[in-house]
Amino acid sequence: MTFEYAPAPESRSIVSISPKYGHFIGGNFVAGTKHFPTINPATEEVLSKIACGTKSDVDAAVKAARKAYVGTWSKMSGKERGKYLFRIARIMQERAREFAVLETLDNGKPIRESRDVDVPLAAAHFFYHAGWADKLEYAGLGTSTKPHGVAGQIIPWNFPLLMLAWKVAPALAMGNTVVLKPAETTSLTALLFAQVCQEAELPAGVVNIVTGDGSTGALIVNHPGIDKIAFTGSTEVGKIIARAVASTKKSVTLELGGKAANIVFDDAPIDEAVEGIINGIFFNQGHVCCAGSRLVLQENIADEFLEKLKIRMNKIRVGDPMDKNTDLGAINSQEQLLKIRELTIAGDKEGAQRWSPECALPSKGFWFPPTIFTGVTQGHRIAREEIFGPVLSVLTFRTPQEAIDKANNTPFGLSAGIWSEKGSRILWASQQLRAGVIWANTFNKFDPTSPFGGYKESGWGREGGRHGLSAYLKGVSHE
Ligand code: ADP
Repeated sequence: MTFEYAPAPESRSIVSISPKYGHFIGGNFVAGTKHFPTINPATEEVLSKIACGTKSDVDAAVKAARKAYVGTWSKMSGKERGKYLFRIARIMQERAREFAVLETLDNGKPIRESRDVDVPLAAAHFFYHAGWADKLEYAGLGTSTKPHGVAGQIIPWNFPLLMLAWKVAPALAMGNTVVLKPAETTSLTALLFAQVCQEAELPAGVVNIVTGDGSTGALIVNHPGIDKIAFTGSTEVGKIIARAVASTKKSVTLELGGKAANIVFDDAPIDEAVEGIINGIFFNQGHVCCAGSRLVLQENIADEFLEKLKIRMNKIRVGDPMDKNTDLGAINSQEQLLKIRELTIAGDKEGAQRWSPECALPSKGFWFPPTIFTGVTQGHRIAREEIFGPVLSVLTFRTPQEAIDKANNTPFGLSAGIWSEKGSRILWASQQLRAGVIWANTFNKFDPTSPFGGYKESGWGREGGRHGLSAYLKGVSHE
């Protein structure tokens, strides 16, 4: 018997969105000059107008950050800094529903995920780093650590508030001040975070938020008053940034793309592995740099596994992100939807077989059904390039070594998954895999105490945990 789910929409009355926003500089909201619309990708409704930061906006933000660094933040004890971080974390918790609703409206991700993952994890990052602020001497990073000064931070649209927390919390805890730029399609929760900074009475200029597109990002990267750049986004832009800072004294951390292999051995608990594969690729519409976008499946269980996977995919509920029952929300932008379409068409043309469950997609907004491709070979574009959407490429293997070779055959090295009941096999495989994060019999588990980052074209440095602290300290190595 199947049950129909009645609609269970979350109310949006908790958020108030201004028709137009400026930047947050030196503790105040200041007007912008040029603006562009930010839309709800599930409905194409214009939510607000966002300012596109200019050279003078970035100059003003860097100046405010420097003044706050020299005058206040660098003179404050770690214990005092920690109090502000605790305060921010608590306010984020108090305003959690507001953040979750706003994130879902602006990003298109299901409210269930913004409510249960993004916002609680963002608050947890502030709590965790608040705890480090007065214990740096005991972190094993030297007894007289020094912050960089002013950090320029550029973040993507897939986890807007969470990526802000990954960047801002360690920077502040280590004693830096920041100029942060959210992604152009998802600036609203960063602007709400600016209100939290005011509510927490964070000294003016410690956090500055300049909104805008890639041109604003480039102004931050190339600004001579910035000491450290932290970037999360595409490998393409990461390379531009690496080149831009190469001849400067700026320190840099980059968290870039991925094409993770999720390897299922024939001794794996099948039902749990199916659930893990689903979570690995369909969480957040597959807009996840560490998404398990390649299923590397042992050949002798492939038919049974794929049959079960399809049955499970039939149950994925696609639609209104504000509905509490929704599993898969909207694609964040038309541009991203076109990219997903282009790559999946390449998959068809190169001879892989596409399958999606039947699901009615809303007529307005940007949508893509959960999709798998079987018969994928290592040379196919859908096996090599990051799709950043709800699309899984399935490859098969016969021997464990073949699984490792296929998994490692990628320019990326961010994450990987292993599904097996044998502990020795898990340990052996995780030693062979060239990936910064390896999950065993689970996937997409995040925790502020755990370092995250990649090898090869997936980036430089680590974020989170004790390792991540060093990214915001002078002269301490990243890994
Ligand atoms: P995605 O492909 O996920 O959109 P991008 O790398 O294009 O990722 O964007 C990530 C962030 O980098 C966004 O905030 C974007 O505005 C910014 N950005 C884009 N181009 C540049 C650039 N040349 N220099 C600095 N930041 C940039």
